[in-house]
Amino acid sequence: MTQALLALAGNQNSGKTTLFNVLTGSNQHVGNFPGVTVEKKVGQLKDLKEVSLVDLPGIYSLSPYTSEEVVTRDFILQEHPNLIINIVDATNIERNLYLTLQLMELQVPMVIALNMMDEVVQSGNSIDTERLSKQLGVPIVPISAARKQGINELIRTIKKMLKHPVAVLKPDFCSGEVHRAIHAIAHIIEDHAKQCDYPLRFAATKLVEGDSVMQQKLSLHDDDIHIIEDIVKSMEHALNVDREAALADMRYCYIESICKDSVCKVQETYGQQRSEKIDRWLTHKYLGIPIFILIMLFIFYITFSVIGGALQEWLEMGIEAFTEQFSILLNNIGISNWLHELLINGVCNGVGSVLSFLPIIVILFFFLSLLEDSGYMARVAFVMDRSLRRIGLSGRSFVPMLIGFGCSVPAIMAARTLSSERDRKMTILLTPFMSCSAKLPIYGMITAAFFPDHAALILISVYLLGILVAILSGLLLKQTVFQGDCVPFVMELPAYRIPAAKSVLLHMWEKAKDFLHRAFTIIFIASILIWFLQSFDWQLNYISDSSASILASLGSALARVFAPLGFNDWRAATALLSGVTAKESVVSTLSVLTQGNDAALAQMLPQIFTPLSAYAFLAFTVLYMPCIAAFAATKRELGSWRDALLTVGYQTVAAYVVALLIFQIGSLFL
Ligand code: GDP
Ligand code: MG
Repeated sequence: MTQALLALAGNQNSGKTTLFNVLTGSNQHVGNFPGVTVEKKVGQLKDLKEVSLVDLPGIYSLSPYTSEEVVTRDFILQEHPNLIINIVDATNIERNLYLTLQLMELQVPMVIALNMMDEVVQSGNSIDTERLSKQLGVPIVPISAARKQGINELIRTIKKMLKHPVAVLKPDFCSGEVHRAIHAIAHIIEDHAKQCDYPLRFAATKLVEGDSVMQQKLSLHDDDIHIIEDIVKSMEHALNVDREAALADMRYCYIESICKDSVCKVQETYGQQRSEKIDRWLTHKYLGIPIFILIMLFIFYITFSVIGGALQEWLEMGIEAFTEQFSILLNNIGISNWLHELLINGVCNGVGSVLSFLPIIVILFFFLSLLEDSGYMARVAFVMDRSLRRIGLSGRSFVPMLIGFGCSVPAIMAARTLSSERDRKMTILLTPFMSCSAKLPIYGMITAAFFPDHAALILISVYLLGILVAILSGLLLKQTVFQGDCVPFVMELPAYRIPAAKSVLLHMWEKAKDFLHRAFTIIFIASILIWFLQSFDWQLNYISDSSASILASLGSALARVFAPLGFNDWRAATALLSGVTAKESVVSTLSVLTQGNDAALAQMLPQIFTPLSAYAFLAFTVLYMPCIAAFAATKRELGSWRDALLTVGYQTVAAYVVALLIFQIGSLFL
């Protein structure tokens, strides 16, 4: 078989990624949350290597409003896939067929993979796929992606369709006024559509819907536009609904009429029934938020003290023992003094100080992926909606923020699922205030040195500080830069599912890999650089007193800026500066400066900070600009340097002001 391109399209949460993984044998992240896949992913079919499959983001419609819709629509229109595999969630078939009808208009050969049939069958419902297939004029294969059922049949059908491609039998499922409008418009735009290589019926329908992007792309004459608008107006008048509603009504009527014959639903699926029961509690009007807070407290407790804390101590001991043995080994082979220093004080201590946080970070991500895969995250968005509205955001923004407790990079990308530009920008701006996991080593270091008896209190307070600043910023921005209303909350609540162990483990492994990768690249290099700068003076003499080093003279200049915050010290300033490469670098820098000696670090920190200024330092690190990787994500998502720089500028200024207030006001009392 020759090269072929397949597109996997379907509603959010219909199992696209699960099917993609089954068909290609890859391990993409599956989540029980609408909008997990925001970018399209490509893979080769397992047993047909020359066939590529593209996992498109989940959508409900082909309008050009959200970026997922644009990605999917542009892909199909411009890349001309040989075949669309439309995945339909059988437990929610009416809703899913809405997209199917639009995909059919694209006139690309298509197969419907009717997914989640296991749930349909289990609850005693049934779907007459043969009949449905005849009515739609599209082959339908019932499958269960999660249980790998029906996959062979699907592959057989795919092969058959690739060999003998048949375009969708064009069922004229429009009727009445809408039918007249679509066909009249199709007649007018026929030449334009052909020129742009757009499927005629699709283009006509989009014009009836008032799709301005389509109007521009077709480059219609003004006269034609007027005629089209007249046709639409008379349709609206005759039906007494607006243009978008007219089309939606028509599609739903058609879906209803075919499902009446083919779908036998005796009861809601067990999954849906169970979800309703659970939701009575978890999305309860008053209990919803308290339950969420309890769950989060439980997660943090387990992560930081019970499991993560203990594992971290073990790992720390292991790293120390390794460093010691390594140092002895280096001495035995008689390695030169400076290289010994570089390897032990620079590399081992710099990287080691950060590495010990691996268990905590992995466990935090374990819980975050449980929240997501079980379907609870979508509920959280729902219960938080009302509160978020007060600060000018909608419940949807909550999810990126929750992910932000893990890492800002995926969090900023997750903001893509927000349909309103205003909500999206605001979410991208506020998400980094959520304290990401890379900042944990900093909290660990400062609390150990200054607040050993109140570690939990300090930890909670920093997390809350981030949230508080985000809330205040939201209120401020709502009044100024981001005026206007947030879009109403529309999100389907997926059925609760027991998270698949494979998916959760995969997620944890990916995060661990990412963290290790950073520890041995960015932090490794930063540690060497810091070691170099603090071991030599400007004349490149190797010095033992680092206060005469290059780093000291550079840092001192910057340190003055922080004097009002209570820490006018070159070491703190350079630590913050190197924290921009990766937040863990703040710790590895200070660790390198003290030759990785814990006792020396414990001695040095009080020279730099008082407990009050140490807290101001913490506050600054929570809030100031995120690391380079997150900055790059911000730039990519906002699309302009100006906006990205303004965003991190705002974050850094906010950090400065808050730390200043903490130190200055605190000084009055302490
Ligand atoms: P996507 O958003 O369309 O990519 O959907 P995902 O592949 O991420 O899957 C969404 C959820 O549906 C996950 O919790 C999957 O485990 C679950 N799922 C996928 N396919 C099936 C299936 O055939 N049966 C059942 N019961 N669950 C499934
Ligand atoms: Mg997906």
